Amino acid sequence: MSTDKYDLVVIGAGPAGYAAAIRGAQLGMSVACIDKALGTDGQPTLGGTCLNWGCIPSKALLDASHRFVETRDSLADVGVIAGNVEMDVPRMMARKDAVVAQLTGGIGALFQGNGVTHLAGLGRLLSGARVEFEPHEGETRTLDAGSVVLAPGSVPVEIAPAPLDGDRIVDSTGALAFDAAPARLGVIGAGAIGLELGSVWGRLGSEVVILEALEDFLPTADSRIARDGLRELGRQGLDIRLGTRVTGAEVQGEAVVVSYQDGSGDEHSLEVDRLIVAVGRRPYTEGLLAPDSGVNLDERGFLFVNDLCVTDAPNVYAVGDVVRGPMLAHKGAEEGVMAAERIAGHKPVVNYDTVPSVIYTHPEIAWVGKTEDDVKAAGDDYRVGTFPFAASGRALAANDAKGLVKLVADAETDRILGVHVFGPQASEIIAQAVIAMEFDASAEDIGLTMFAHPTLSEALHEAALGVGGHAIHMINRKR
Ligand code: FAD
Ligand code: AMP
Repeated sequence: MSTDKYDLVVIGAGPAGYAAAIRGAQLGMSVACIDKALGTDGQPTLGGTCLNWGCIPSKALLDASHRFVETRDSLADVGVIAGNVEMDVPRMMARKDAVVAQLTGGIGALFQGNGVTHLAGLGRLLSGARVEFEPHEGETRTLDAGSVVLAPGSVPVEIAPAPLDGDRIVDSTGALAFDAAPARLGVIGAGAIGLELGSVWGRLGSEVVILEALEDFLPTADSRIARDGLRELGRQGLDIRLGTRVTGAEVQGEAVVVSYQDGSGDEHSLEVDRLIVAVGRRPYTEGLLAPDSGVNLDERGFLFVNDLCVTDAPNVYAVGDVVRGPMLAHKGAEEGVMAAERIAGHKPVVNYDTVPSVIYTHPEIAWVGKTEDDVKAAGDDYRVGTFPFAASGRALAANDAKGLVKLVADAETDRILGVHVFGPQASEIIAQAVIAMEFDASAEDIGLTMFAHPTLSEALHEAALGVGGHAIHMINRKR
C-alpha cells in the first residue's frame, strides 16, 4: 500500500466537508477530500446530500410547482390571462437534474481552482490521524494527514412499520424523482422534508395525507406561526393528521395500505398510490472508523465533539449532520469553515444561538432564536411586536400577503431574542434578523434603521417598532 501525505484530509464532500476542504486550501494547506457518492449517471459526484438529494433538488421542484399553481390559480387576479396551464413533469425533473449537475460540477471547479484533490471512493479513519482510502477504481492506500475533518453526513431514518421498496414506499430521495404526481400520496412525518415534498406533489395534483405522530404541529417553531402555517397548508389541500402513529404499510398491487393509530388508540387504514417516509435523518458512520481510531460516538450515534467540533482523537474534527445540532446545510458549512480555520491556528467559533431554520412551503416559514413560548417558560420578561403582511404595501402589490413577522425582545434590555416569519420570502427576511442578532441588536436598533420602501423587509422593521408599541402602519394596542 502506498502512502500519500496531506496537511488536511476531509471525509465527505457535502456542504460541511467541501467548505472545510476549500477553506483549508485557501489557508495554504495541501488538502484531499474523499467522497464515495455516485450521481444518477453512475459517476462520482460532489456536494453530498444537499446538492444531490436534498436542499437543491427539493427547492427546484418547490419553485417549479409553485409557479405552476400561481400561474393557474392567481395570475388572473393581477390581470394575466395564461390560458390552459399544464405541468410537464419530465421537463421539471430534467431541469432539476440540470441544476444539480451545474452545482455539483461547480464544486469540482472550486476544488480544482483551489487545488483540493478530489478522491472518489471510501474513506476510513485509522489511528494517528491516518486515513485509509479505497477508491472506486484502483488500489486501497493510506493517507497521512496532519489533520482530519470527518463530514460523512446523514441518511434518512427508516422505520419498521413502513419498509421502503424503492417504488411505492420511498424516502425523500425517491420522492424527488417521481415520474408523475401520484393520485393519492401518503407522507409519514410533518417535518420540513415531509411538508416540502407533500407541497410539491400536492400542487401537481396529488391528494396528500400527512400522518404525524406528534400532537403539535412544528413544535420547535413559534406556536402562533405554527398555527397559522397549519391552517394555510390545510387550505392548500394538505390533509395533515396530527397525533397519528403509523403502525404498518403494505404494498397491495398498485396501492399501499397504511395502518395508523390516532391519539385515542383507534386503528385506521388509508390507501394511497405512493408513500413517502419522511421521519427524520440519522448520522451516517458506516465503515467510517477503524476500531482504534480514537473517535467516540454519543448515545444517539452522532460523532462526539465539543463546541469547537473537536473529537476525542487528536487532530480529528467532525462537522455537519454527523454531529449534534440541527441537521442543516448552513450549520454544517459554518462548522467546516471553523474546523479548517482552527487547524490553521485561527480562533473562530460557531454561534449556535443564531442558526436560522426555514421551511420552504408557500408562504415560507422561517425563524431564528427563541420562541415566545421558550422565553415564557424560562420566566423571563419580554415584549413582542408583530406585523401582518396584509398591511405590507409590497406584499399586497405582489398579491402575496399572507402571514406575519413576529419579533420577541427582552423587556429590560430590548435585545432581540427571536424572530419568526411566516410569509413571502421569509427565508430572505430571516437573514436580516440573523445579522441583527449576531450584532446583539435591540428591537430599537432595527426600528431606527431605514428600510427601502416598498419591500417585504419593512414588515421586520414594523414588527420591531411594534415591540415599543409604535408601528406606523398598524394600530398599536395599548400596553
Ligand atoms: P452530506 O451532505 O450528507 O454529505 C456527506 C457526504 O459524505 C456524502 O456525499 C456521502 O456520500 C459522503 N460519505 C459518507 N461517508 C463516507 C465515507 N466513509 N467515505 C467517503 N464518503 C463518505 N438543509 C438546509 O439547510 N436547507 C434545506 O433546504 C434543506 N433541504 C433538504 C431537503 C431534503 C429532501 C433533504 C434530504 C435534506 C435537506 N437539508 C436541507 C439537509 C441538508 O441536506 C443536510 O443538512 C446537509 O446536506 C448536511 O451536510 P453534510 O456535509 O453534513 O453531509
Ligand atoms: P423531522 O425530524 O423534522 O424531519 O420530522 C420527522 C417527523 O416524523 C417527526 O415530527 C416525527 O414525529 C414524525 N414521525 C416519526 N415516526 C412516525 C410514525 N411512525 N408515524 C407518524 N409520524 C412519525
